[in-house]
Amino acid sequence: MSPLSADSQLGVARTVKALRARVDAWRSSGQSVGFVPTMGALHDGHLSLVRMAARLSDRTVASIFVNPTQFAPHEDFSSYPRNEAQDLEKLQIAGCHLAYTPPPEQMYPPGFQTSIKVEAVSQGLCGESRPHFFGGVATVVCKLLNQVRPTVAVFGEKDFQQLLVIKRMVRDLDMPVEIVGAPIVREADGLAMSSRNAYLSTDERATAGKLNKIISSMADRLSEGADASDVLNDGRMALESAGVSRVDYLEIRSETDLTPVLYGPIDPAIPARVFIAAIVGKTRLIDNWPVRRA
Ligand code: AMP
Repeated sequence: MSPLSADSQLGVARTVKALRARVDAWRSSGQSVGFVPTMGALHDGHLSLVRMAARLSDRTVASIFVNPTQFAPHEDFSSYPRNEAQDLEKLQIAGCHLAYTPPPEQMYPPGFQTSIKVEAVSQGLCGESRPHFFGGVATVVCKLLNQVRPTVAVFGEKDFQQLLVIKRMVRDLDMPVEIVGAPIVREADGLAMSSRNAYLSTDERATAGKLNKIISSMADRLSEGADASDVLNDGRMALESAGVSRVDYLEIRSETDLTPVLYGPIDPAIPARVFIAAIVGKTRLIDNWPVRRA
């Protein structure tokens, strides 16, 4: 006999109707609902968000949806890793109650024509080289939040700009949900876990493992009072010798509104992070590291 009670078995909803039936029953019995949106190919980073949502609420929903509108035509939408059976197993073990796996026509039925644009915070960093990305993300997350209607939704600090975009959208549109950020989960050598790490060859994986060391030592120097422009120059040189194919960006920005810090020592009153997007082989990897404050 299964050690799991029927109530701890993971449910699967593929339509808004099925999702609402489950979530409405929980809400009307006074239970809070935590939500984690994902694109699947789940790893421990995703599962840490599920566990955090489970700690913060009575019931946990995770969505798996590879959102076509956040990929540009030349990006990896069709090759993005998909493995629903494995993902469902992992969600069950992490204590998730319901997986929401809508087909594209549930999310974008014929005639769909609305989009959400979050202005300043979507600009720069990933918004520079992926101009449609945050519009696609904000629109799909807005839809998912309206469909699930959670009490709290958890997003990873791995995608720090995305977290700020979602927080801004929720504040600006008075959406009744609390947005919580969760720390980055890393591999043993510090590489930020990502579904795209699966694309890396052995040599590329070794290079990828150096990115976090470069940005964390940049953050250390900044916290010791080094000049930002010197730290950025040295960081770029270190990336070049690490074998990175191309640096999309390497920047120091405030954590609150992403104001760039270009030179001079960091103002200890303003929390800041080092942000990186780098292409290793053909794979675009992102990471960020907080500057410790005295
Ligand atoms: P994705 O499936 O890549 O869209 O990511 C879904 C959620 O998982 C987002 O909130 C990401 O920020 C988060 N996430 C992805 N990788 C990590 C990681 N290594 N640590 C923490 N959160 C992560």
